[in-house]
Amino acid sequence: MKTFFKALGNVFKKPVTTKYPFEQTYKPDDYRGLIGFEESLCIWCRRCEAVCPPGAIVFSQDMEGKQTYHYNRAVCIYCTECVRACPKEGAIFQTAEPAPCALKEENINNGWNKLFAEAIESRELYAAEKKKKAAEKAAADKAAAVAKKAAEEGNKEG
Ligand code: SF4
Ligand code: SF4
Repeated sequence: MKTFFKALGNVFKKPVTTKYPFEQTYKPDDYRGLIGFEESLCIWCRRCEAVCPPGAIVFSQDMEGKQTYHYNRAVCIYCTECVRACPKEGAIFQTAEPAPCALKEENINNGWNKLFAEAIESRELYAAEKKKKAAEKAAADKAAAVAKKAAEEGNKEG
């Protein structure tokens, strides 16, 4: 009888379930959502990339040295290691925004692997170019110093 009345009472109670995805489910205050990035505060140290366990962050670099931040919400495991490692408060931060589902059409993993490899390659190219320019400058400086010394010695003899 007790069970019967309990069941009857439940008929008039609000459902405990929510109409997800049409209604948002309960979100705790410390919910770990998407990682945000504020370019104006970033000092481009790439510590966030270095500590990210699954490789959800990568920086590419153009030939002028300018870096670009890339983040993959589907690879991210929402551990917040990047935020903890960042020396500039607010440059990278945790939001409470839930990550949207990765869609098949986005080809998100293959696309990310390609982008990641290209980003690393872009940095290597920039580093190689920088090294080449530094070597050329050192050679030019050395040649100029030798020429200057020769000119000074020529002047003395004259
Ligand atoms: S929260 Fe964790 S997994 Fe996500 S980008 Fe930051 S370090 Fe990487
Ligand atoms: S750790 Fe912070 S400052 Fe360094 S590159 Fe990442 S977001 Fe920028």
